[in-house]
Amino acid sequence: MKPVAERLTPQPWMSAPETVAVIAALTARGGTARFVGGCVRDSVLRRPVKDVDIATSDVPETVLDLLTAAGLEVAPTGLAHGTVTAISGGLPFEITTLRRDVATDGRRATVAFTDDWAADAARRDFTLNALYLDPDGTLYDPTGGLPDLRAGRVRFVGDPASRIQEDYLRILRFFRIYAHYGKPPPDAAALAACQQHAAGLAQLSAERVAHELLRILGAADPAAVLELTARTGVLARIVPEAANLDRLGALARCDGADPSPLRRLAAVAHGGPDDMAALANRLKLSNKDRDRLVALAVPALITTTADPITRRALLYRSGRESFADSVYLRWAADELDNAAGWQALLTEAAHWRKPMLPVGGEDALAAGVPRGPEVGHALQAVEDLWIASDFLAGRGELLAELWQIGRAFGGRSASGD
Ligand code: ATP
Ligand code: MG
Repeated sequence: MKPVAERLTPQPWMSAPETVAVIAALTARGGTARFVGGCVRDSVLRRPVKDVDIATSDVPETVLDLLTAAGLEVAPTGLAHGTVTAISGGLPFEITTLRRDVATDGRRATVAFTDDWAADAARRDFTLNALYLDPDGTLYDPTGGLPDLRAGRVRFVGDPASRIQEDYLRILRFFRIYAHYGKPPPDAAALAACQQHAAGLAQLSAERVAHELLRILGAADPAAVLELTARTGVLARIVPEAANLDRLGALARCDGADPSPLRRLAAVAHGGPDDMAALANRLKLSNKDRDRLVALAVPALITTTADPITRRALLYRSGRESFADSVYLRWAADELDNAAGWQALLTEAAHWRKPMLPVGGEDALAAGVPRGPEVGHALQAVEDLWIASDFLAGRGELLAELWQIGRAFGGRSASGD
Protein backbone atom coordinates (compact mmCIF):
# COMPACT_ATOMS: atom_id res chain seq x y z
CA MET A 1 0.00 0.00 0.00
CA LYS A 2 1.46 3.35 -1.04
CA PRO A 3 1.34 6.28 1.38
CA VAL A 4 -0.26 9.58 0.39
CA ALA A 5 1.95 12.63 0.02
CA GLU A 6 0.36 14.35 2.97
CA ARG A 7 1.68 13.56 6.44
CA LEU A 8 -0.03 14.04 9.73
CA THR A 9 1.77 16.13 12.32
CA PRO A 10 2.25 13.59 15.13
CA GLN A 11 -0.47 14.10 17.72
CA PRO A 12 -0.01 13.96 21.51
CA TRP A 13 -1.87 10.61 21.77
CA MET A 14 0.64 9.09 19.33
CA SER A 15 3.65 9.95 21.46
CA ALA A 16 1.95 9.16 24.77
CA PRO A 17 3.97 6.50 26.64
CA GLU A 18 0.96 4.16 26.73
CA THR A 19 0.71 4.21 22.92
CA VAL A 20 4.45 4.01 22.37
CA ALA A 21 4.62 0.89 24.57
CA VAL A 22 1.95 -0.91 22.51
CA ILE A 23 3.53 -0.01 19.17
CA ALA A 24 6.99 -1.02 20.43
CA ALA A 25 5.61 -4.39 21.52
CA LEU A 26 3.82 -5.03 18.22
CA THR A 27 6.84 -4.11 16.09
CA ALA A 28 9.51 -5.74 18.28
CA ARG A 29 10.00 -8.64 15.84
CA GLY A 30 9.64 -6.69 12.62
CA GLY A 31 5.84 -6.66 12.26
CA THR A 32 3.93 -3.63 10.97
CA ALA A 33 1.34 -1.90 13.12
CA ARG A 34 -0.72 1.07 11.98
CA PHE A 35 -3.36 3.20 13.60
CA VAL A 36 -6.73 2.90 11.90
CA GLY A 37 -10.34 4.02 12.21
CA GLY A 38 -11.64 6.70 14.52
CA CYS A 39 -8.29 7.82 15.91
CA VAL A 40 -6.93 8.59 12.43
CA ARG A 41 -10.18 10.17 11.26
CA ASP A 42 -10.36 12.43 14.31
CA SER A 43 -6.68 13.35 14.19
CA VAL A 44 -6.98 14.49 10.57
CA LEU A 45 -9.83 16.75 11.68
CA ARG A 46 -7.92 17.79 14.82
CA ARG A 47 -10.69 16.47 17.00
CA PRO A 48 -9.89 14.85 20.34
CA VAL A 49 -9.11 11.13 20.09
CA LYS A 50 -11.05 8.85 22.44
CA ASP A 51 -9.83 5.34 21.79
CA VAL A 52 -7.04 3.95 19.67
CA ASP A 53 -7.55 1.13 17.18
CA ILE A 54 -4.51 -0.56 15.63
CA ALA A 55 -4.25 -2.84 12.58
CA THR A 56 -1.43 -5.34 12.22
CA SER A 57 -0.43 -8.02 9.75
CA ASP A 58 0.52 -10.46 12.52
CA VAL A 59 -2.00 -13.17 13.41
CA PRO A 60 -3.74 -12.88 16.81
CA GLU A 61 -1.59 -15.58 18.48
CA THR A 62 1.54 -13.62 17.58
CA VAL A 63 -0.09 -10.42 18.80
CA LEU A 64 -0.87 -12.07 22.15
CA ASP A 65 2.72 -13.30 22.33
CA LEU A 66 4.25 -9.94 21.52
CA LEU A 67 2.10 -8.08 24.02
CA THR A 68 2.70 -10.58 26.81
CA ALA A 69 6.44 -10.60 26.10
CA ALA A 70 6.40 -6.83 26.55
CA GLY A 71 4.65 -7.22 29.89
CA LEU A 72 1.38 -5.69 28.74
CA GLU A 73 -1.96 -6.88 30.01
CA VAL A 74 -4.14 -8.47 27.31
CA ALA A 75 -7.79 -9.35 26.92
CA PRO A 76 -8.64 -11.65 24.00
CA THR A 77 -11.86 -9.66 23.35
CA GLY A 78 -12.73 -10.84 19.86
CA LEU A 79 -10.14 -13.46 19.05
CA ALA A 80 -12.29 -15.18 16.42
CA HIS A 81 -12.45 -11.88 14.54
CA GLY A 82 -8.79 -11.15 15.12
CA THR A 83 -9.18 -8.57 17.87
CA VAL A 84 -7.06 -8.44 20.99
CA THR A 85 -7.26 -5.64 23.52
CA ALA A 86 -4.02 -4.49 25.11
CA ILE A 87 -4.19 -2.54 28.35
CA SER A 88 -1.32 -0.09 28.53
CA GLY A 89 -1.05 2.33 31.42
CA GLY A 90 -4.69 1.58 32.16
CA LEU A 91 -5.82 2.51 28.64
CA PRO A 92 -7.33 -0.01 26.20
CA PHE A 93 -5.94 -0.43 22.67
CA GLU A 94 -7.89 -2.61 20.23
CA ILE A 95 -5.51 -4.48 17.96
CA THR A 96 -7.03 -6.22 14.96
CA THR A 97 -5.26 -8.48 12.50
CA LEU A 98 -5.69 -7.55 8.84
CA ARG A 99 -8.59 -9.56 7.56
CA ARG A 100 -11.15 -10.08 4.88
CA ASP A 101 -14.69 -11.27 5.49
CA VAL A 102 -15.25 -14.61 3.81
CA ALA A 103 -18.84 -15.20 4.90
CA THR A 104 -21.42 -12.89 6.43
CA ASP A 105 -24.96 -13.32 7.75
CA GLY A 106 -26.08 -9.75 8.32
CA ARG A 107 -24.71 -9.67 11.83
CA ARG A 108 -21.30 -11.25 12.06
CA ALA A 109 -18.62 -12.39 9.70
CA THR A 110 -16.41 -15.41 9.32
CA VAL A 111 -13.02 -13.90 8.69
CA ALA A 112 -9.74 -14.88 7.08
CA PHE A 113 -6.54 -13.20 8.16
CA THR A 114 -4.40 -11.63 5.49
CA ASP A 115 -1.33 -9.48 5.06
CA ASP A 116 -3.05 -7.40 2.40
CA TRP A 117 -3.78 -3.89 3.66
CA ALA A 118 -6.06 -3.09 0.73
CA ALA A 119 -8.20 -6.15 1.50
CA ASP A 120 -8.48 -4.99 5.10
CA ALA A 121 -9.59 -1.56 3.88
CA ALA A 122 -12.19 -3.15 1.61
CA ARG A 123 -13.95 -4.85 4.54
CA ARG A 124 -14.28 -1.59 6.51
CA ASP A 125 -17.53 0.35 6.41
CA PHE A 126 -16.83 3.88 5.17
CA THR A 127 -13.97 5.41 3.23
CA LEU A 128 -13.26 7.90 6.02
CA ASN A 129 -12.94 4.96 8.44
CA ALA A 130 -10.43 3.15 6.24
CA LEU A 131 -7.49 5.50 6.82
CA TYR A 132 -4.24 4.07 8.18
CA LEU A 133 -1.48 5.93 9.94
CA ASP A 134 2.11 4.96 10.71
CA PRO A 135 3.37 6.00 14.12
CA ASP A 136 5.65 8.52 12.33
CA GLY A 137 2.72 10.36 10.70
CA THR A 138 2.70 8.64 7.30
CA LEU A 139 -0.89 8.34 6.03
CA TYR A 140 -2.44 5.65 3.82
CA ASP A 141 -5.75 6.15 2.09
CA PRO A 142 -6.60 3.12 -0.06
CA THR A 143 -10.27 4.06 -0.66
CA GLY A 144 -10.25 7.84 -1.14
CA GLY A 145 -11.33 8.55 2.41
CA LEU A 146 -9.25 11.68 3.01
CA PRO A 147 -11.05 13.91 0.50
CA ASP A 148 -14.37 12.39 1.63
CA LEU A 149 -13.57 13.16 5.25
CA ARG A 150 -12.70 16.77 4.49
CA ALA A 151 -15.82 17.24 2.38
CA GLY A 152 -18.08 15.56 4.94
CA ARG A 153 -18.99 12.75 2.52
CA VAL A 154 -19.85 9.55 4.33
CA ARG A 155 -19.49 6.90 1.64
CA PHE A 156 -19.57 3.14 1.90
CA VAL A 157 -16.49 1.28 0.77
CA GLY A 158 -17.88 -0.55 -2.26
CA ASP A 159 -21.54 -1.07 -3.07
CA PRO A 160 -23.75 0.21 -0.23
CA ALA A 161 -26.48 -2.41 -0.61
CA SER A 162 -24.04 -5.32 -0.50
CA ARG A 163 -22.14 -3.85 2.43
CA ILE A 164 -25.37 -3.38 4.37
CA GLN A 165 -26.54 -6.92 3.70
CA GLU A 166 -23.26 -8.21 5.10
CA ASP A 167 -23.91 -6.37 8.36
CA TYR A 168 -27.11 -4.44 9.04
CA LEU A 169 -25.46 -2.51 11.87
CA ARG A 170 -23.85 -0.50 9.09
CA ILE A 171 -27.21 1.21 8.49
CA LEU A 172 -27.05 2.72 11.96
CA ARG A 173 -23.33 3.34 11.72
CA PHE A 174 -24.00 5.28 8.53
CA PHE A 175 -26.39 7.62 10.30
CA ARG A 176 -24.14 7.85 13.33
CA ILE A 177 -21.03 8.71 11.34
CA TYR A 178 -23.04 11.08 9.14
CA ALA A 179 -24.38 12.78 12.28
CA HIS A 180 -20.86 13.50 13.51
CA TYR A 181 -18.85 13.91 10.28
CA GLY A 182 -21.27 14.45 7.42
CA LYS A 183 -22.24 17.57 5.57
CA PRO A 184 -25.52 17.67 3.67
CA PRO A 185 -26.58 16.31 1.35
CA PRO A 186 -26.02 12.73 2.50
CA ASP A 187 -24.80 10.19 -0.06
CA ALA A 188 -27.85 9.28 -2.13
CA ALA A 189 -26.77 5.71 -2.88
CA ALA A 190 -26.15 5.08 0.81
CA LEU A 191 -29.54 6.49 1.83
CA ALA A 192 -31.35 4.45 -0.81
CA ALA A 193 -29.61 1.27 0.35
CA CYS A 194 -30.44 2.00 4.00
CA GLN A 195 -34.07 2.44 3.03
CA GLN A 196 -34.17 -0.67 0.87
CA HIS A 197 -32.67 -2.91 3.53
CA ALA A 198 -34.12 -1.39 6.70
CA ALA A 199 -36.01 -4.61 7.48
CA GLY A 200 -32.65 -6.24 8.27
CA LEU A 201 -32.37 -4.10 11.40
CA ALA A 202 -34.65 -6.62 13.12
CA GLN A 203 -31.66 -8.99 13.29
CA LEU A 204 -29.63 -6.68 15.52
CA SER A 205 -29.42 -6.96 19.29
CA ALA A 206 -31.13 -4.25 21.32
CA GLU A 207 -27.81 -3.29 22.91
CA ARG A 208 -26.15 -2.50 19.59
CA VAL A 209 -29.17 -0.56 18.37
CA ALA A 210 -29.29 1.45 21.59
CA HIS A 211 -25.57 2.17 21.42
CA GLU A 212 -25.80 3.61 17.90
CA LEU A 213 -29.07 5.43 18.57
CA LEU A 214 -27.66 7.19 21.62
CA ARG A 215 -24.56 8.19 19.70
CA ILE A 216 -26.71 9.66 16.93
CA LEU A 217 -28.62 11.59 19.57
CA GLY A 218 -25.37 12.98 20.96
CA ALA A 219 -24.54 14.77 17.69
CA ALA A 220 -24.77 18.52 17.11
CA ASP A 221 -27.98 18.35 15.07
CA PRO A 222 -29.66 15.07 15.98
CA ALA A 223 -33.08 16.14 14.72
CA ALA A 224 -31.85 16.55 11.16
CA VAL A 225 -30.33 13.07 11.21
CA LEU A 226 -33.35 11.45 12.84
CA GLU A 227 -35.41 13.12 10.15
CA LEU A 228 -33.32 11.18 7.61
CA THR A 229 -33.80 7.95 9.55
CA ALA A 230 -37.54 8.64 9.60
CA ARG A 231 -37.67 9.31 5.89
CA THR A 232 -35.88 6.06 5.10
CA GLY A 233 -38.08 3.95 7.37
CA VAL A 234 -35.20 3.22 9.74
CA LEU A 235 -36.50 5.15 12.74
CA ALA A 236 -39.85 3.37 12.82
CA ARG A 237 -38.01 0.07 13.10
CA ILE A 238 -35.80 1.03 15.99
CA VAL A 239 -37.80 3.62 18.01
CA PRO A 240 -41.33 3.97 16.73
CA GLU A 241 -41.98 6.21 19.76
CA ALA A 242 -39.63 8.86 18.36
CA ALA A 243 -42.27 11.12 16.89
CA ASN A 244 -41.32 14.45 18.37
CA LEU A 245 -38.55 15.66 16.09
CA ASP A 246 -39.43 19.31 16.63
CA ARG A 247 -39.05 18.96 20.36
CA LEU A 248 -35.70 17.23 19.86
CA GLY A 249 -34.60 20.06 17.58
CA ALA A 250 -35.59 22.64 20.17
CA LEU A 251 -33.76 20.77 22.93
CA ALA A 252 -30.59 20.43 20.87
CA ARG A 253 -30.60 24.19 20.36
CA CYS A 254 -30.55 24.61 24.16
CA ASP A 255 -28.29 21.81 25.38
CA GLY A 256 -25.57 21.92 22.72
CA ALA A 257 -22.88 22.76 25.28
CA ASP A 258 -24.00 19.90 27.53
CA PRO A 259 -25.67 17.31 25.31
CA SER A 260 -27.15 14.22 26.88
CA PRO A 261 -28.29 11.44 24.53
CA LEU A 262 -30.72 10.06 27.11
CA ARG A 263 -32.36 13.42 27.73
CA ARG A 264 -32.68 13.85 23.99
CA LEU A 265 -34.24 10.40 23.69
CA ALA A 266 -36.83 11.44 26.24
CA ALA A 267 -37.50 14.62 24.26
CA VAL A 268 -38.07 12.87 20.98
CA ALA A 269 -39.99 9.90 22.32
CA HIS A 270 -43.63 10.46 22.83
CA GLY A 271 -45.19 9.15 26.02
CA GLY A 272 -45.54 9.03 29.76
CA PRO A 273 -43.52 7.21 32.42
CA ASP A 274 -44.86 3.78 31.49
CA ASP A 275 -43.95 4.27 27.83
CA MET A 276 -40.46 5.39 28.83
CA ALA A 277 -40.03 2.33 31.03
CA ALA A 278 -41.14 0.09 28.16
CA LEU A 279 -38.76 1.86 25.77
CA ALA A 280 -35.88 1.51 28.22
CA ASN A 281 -36.60 -2.18 28.68
CA ARG A 282 -36.80 -2.79 24.97
CA LEU A 283 -33.47 -1.03 24.41
CA LYS A 284 -32.05 -2.96 27.39
CA LEU A 285 -30.82 0.22 29.05
CA SER A 286 -29.30 0.00 32.52
CA ASN A 287 -31.62 0.43 35.51
CA LYS A 288 -30.06 3.80 36.17
CA ASP A 289 -30.74 5.00 32.63
CA ARG A 290 -34.25 3.59 32.74
CA ASP A 291 -35.01 5.49 35.94
CA ARG A 292 -33.69 8.68 34.43
CA LEU A 293 -35.74 8.20 31.27
CA VAL A 294 -38.87 7.59 33.33
CA ALA A 295 -38.20 10.74 35.38
CA LEU A 296 -37.69 12.69 32.16
CA ALA A 297 -41.22 11.83 31.03
CA VAL A 298 -42.55 14.26 33.62
CA PRO A 299 -40.09 17.12 34.01
CA ALA A 300 -40.48 19.23 37.16
CA LEU A 301 -42.38 22.48 36.80
CA ILE A 302 -39.46 24.86 36.96
CA THR A 303 -39.57 28.36 35.51
CA THR A 304 -37.00 31.10 35.16
CA THR A 305 -39.02 33.22 37.56
CA ALA A 306 -39.18 30.61 40.34
CA ASP A 307 -38.09 32.11 43.67
CA PRO A 308 -34.77 30.95 45.16
CA ILE A 309 -36.36 28.81 47.89
CA THR A 310 -38.45 26.89 45.35
CA ARG A 311 -35.39 26.42 43.14
CA ARG A 312 -33.19 25.15 45.90
CA ALA A 313 -35.94 22.91 47.27
CA LEU A 314 -36.32 21.32 43.85
CA LEU A 315 -32.57 20.94 43.49
CA TYR A 316 -32.41 19.23 46.86
CA ARG A 317 -35.31 16.91 46.17
CA SER A 318 -34.48 15.93 42.60
CA GLY A 319 -30.70 16.17 42.57
CA ARG A 320 -28.48 18.10 40.20
CA GLU A 321 -28.86 15.88 37.13
CA SER A 322 -32.61 15.54 37.28
CA PHE A 323 -32.93 19.28 37.97
CA ALA A 324 -30.86 20.09 34.89
CA ASP A 325 -32.92 17.61 32.85
CA SER A 326 -36.09 19.45 33.84
CA VAL A 327 -34.56 22.83 33.12
CA TYR A 328 -33.48 21.78 29.63
CA LEU A 329 -36.85 20.28 28.74
CA ARG A 330 -38.71 23.35 30.04
CA TRP A 331 -36.26 25.61 28.25
CA ALA A 332 -36.82 23.69 25.00
CA ALA A 333 -40.55 24.29 25.39
CA ASP A 334 -40.11 28.00 26.16
CA GLU A 335 -41.25 30.00 23.19
CA LEU A 336 -39.84 33.19 24.67
CA ASP A 337 -36.35 31.77 24.25
CA ASN A 338 -35.29 33.19 27.56
CA ALA A 339 -31.79 31.71 27.26
CA ALA A 340 -30.09 33.82 29.93
CA GLY A 341 -32.73 32.95 32.50
CA TRP A 342 -32.51 29.21 31.87
CA GLN A 343 -28.74 29.33 31.76
CA ALA A 344 -28.71 31.02 35.16
CA LEU A 345 -30.67 28.10 36.61
CA LEU A 346 -28.17 25.64 35.18
CA THR A 347 -25.24 27.61 36.51
CA GLU A 348 -26.84 27.69 39.94
CA ALA A 349 -27.32 23.93 39.78
CA ALA A 350 -23.73 23.35 38.70
CA HIS A 351 -22.40 25.25 41.72
CA TRP A 352 -24.92 23.87 44.19
CA ARG A 353 -23.73 21.58 46.93
CA LYS A 354 -26.24 19.37 48.62
CA PRO A 355 -26.62 20.39 52.28
CA MET A 356 -26.79 17.69 54.97
CA LEU A 357 -29.82 17.46 57.19
CA PRO A 358 -28.31 18.38 60.57
CA VAL A 359 -30.27 15.73 62.53
CA GLY A 360 -30.46 11.96 62.09
CA GLY A 361 -32.07 8.74 63.26
CA GLU A 362 -30.24 8.72 66.61
CA ASP A 363 -31.66 12.15 67.38
CA ALA A 364 -35.17 10.94 66.59
CA LEU A 365 -34.76 7.93 68.91
CA ALA A 366 -33.33 10.11 71.69
CA ALA A 367 -36.37 12.37 71.28
CA GLY A 368 -38.67 9.44 72.00
CA VAL A 369 -39.69 8.44 68.50
CA PRO A 370 -40.15 4.65 68.59
CA ARG A 371 -37.72 2.54 66.61
CA GLY A 372 -39.09 1.52 63.19
CA PRO A 373 -40.76 3.35 60.32
CA GLU A 374 -41.75 6.21 62.65
CA VAL A 375 -38.14 7.35 62.68
CA GLY A 376 -38.23 7.83 58.92
CA HIS A 377 -41.53 9.65 59.09
CA ALA A 378 -40.31 11.96 61.83
CA LEU A 379 -37.13 12.77 59.93
CA GLN A 380 -39.13 13.44 56.81
CA ALA A 381 -41.36 15.90 58.64
CA VAL A 382 -38.32 17.68 60.03
CA GLU A 383 -36.63 17.65 56.63
CA ASP A 384 -39.69 19.30 55.09
CA LEU A 385 -39.45 22.12 57.62
CA TRP A 386 -35.74 22.45 57.00
CA ILE A 387 -36.22 22.64 53.21
CA ALA A 388 -39.02 25.20 53.64
CA SER A 389 -36.62 27.31 55.74
CA ASP A 390 -34.24 27.36 52.75
CA PHE A 391 -31.98 25.02 54.77
CA LEU A 392 -31.46 27.73 57.37
CA ALA A 393 -33.13 26.02 60.33
CA GLY A 394 -30.29 24.83 62.58
CA ARG A 395 -29.77 21.66 64.55
CA GLY A 396 -31.26 23.13 67.72
CA GLU A 397 -34.45 24.15 66.00
CA LEU A 398 -34.82 20.76 64.30
CA LEU A 399 -34.10 18.88 67.53
CA ALA A 400 -36.87 20.84 69.24
CA GLU A 401 -39.15 19.79 66.44
CA LEU A 402 -38.14 16.13 66.85
CA TRP A 403 -38.82 16.31 70.61
CA GLN A 404 -42.26 17.63 69.87
CA ILE A 405 -42.92 14.70 67.58
CA GLY A 406 -41.42 12.36 70.21
CA ARG A 407 -43.72 13.72 72.88
CA ALA A 408 -46.72 12.80 70.76
CA PHE A 409 -45.68 9.18 71.25
CA GLY A 410 -45.77 9.90 74.95
CA GLY A 411 -43.20 7.31 75.96
CA ARG A 412 -40.04 9.09 76.90
CA SER A 413 -38.85 12.26 78.55
CA ALA A 414 -35.80 14.43 78.04
CA SER A 415 -33.89 12.53 80.74
CA GLY A 416 -34.18 9.26 78.84
CA ASP A 417 -35.01 5.79 80.28
P1 ATP B 1 -15.41 5.48 17.53
O1 ATP B 1 -14.29 4.71 18.18
O2 ATP B 1 -15.36 6.94 17.66
O3 ATP B 1 -16.74 4.88 17.80
P2 ATP B 1 -14.54 4.14 15.18
O4 ATP B 1 -14.70 4.44 13.72
O5 ATP B 1 -13.16 3.95 15.67
O6 ATP B 1 -15.27 5.28 15.94
P3 ATP B 1 -15.03 1.49 16.10
O7 ATP B 1 -16.32 0.82 16.41
O8 ATP B 1 -14.03 1.67 17.15
O9 ATP B 1 -15.43 2.88 15.46
O10 ATP B 1 -14.42 0.68 14.88
C1 ATP B 1 -13.09 0.87 14.43
C2 ATP B 1 -13.03 0.71 12.92
O11 ATP B 1 -13.43 -0.60 12.56
C3 ATP B 1 -13.96 1.64 12.15
O12 ATP B 1 -13.38 2.89 11.93
C4 ATP B 1 -14.15 0.85 10.87
O13 ATP B 1 -13.02 0.97 10.03
C5 ATP B 1 -14.18 -0.56 11.36
N1 ATP B 1 -15.56 -1.03 11.66
C6 ATP B 1 -16.19 -0.99 12.86
N2 ATP B 1 -17.41 -1.52 12.80
C7 ATP B 1 -17.58 -1.91 11.52
C8 ATP B 1 -18.63 -2.57 10.79
N3 ATP B 1 -19.77 -2.89 11.40
N4 ATP B 1 -18.43 -2.83 9.49
C9 ATP B 1 -17.27 -2.52 8.89
N5 ATP B 1 -16.25 -1.90 9.48
C10 ATP B 1 -16.39 -1.61 10.79
MG1 MG C 1 -12.66 3.27 17.68
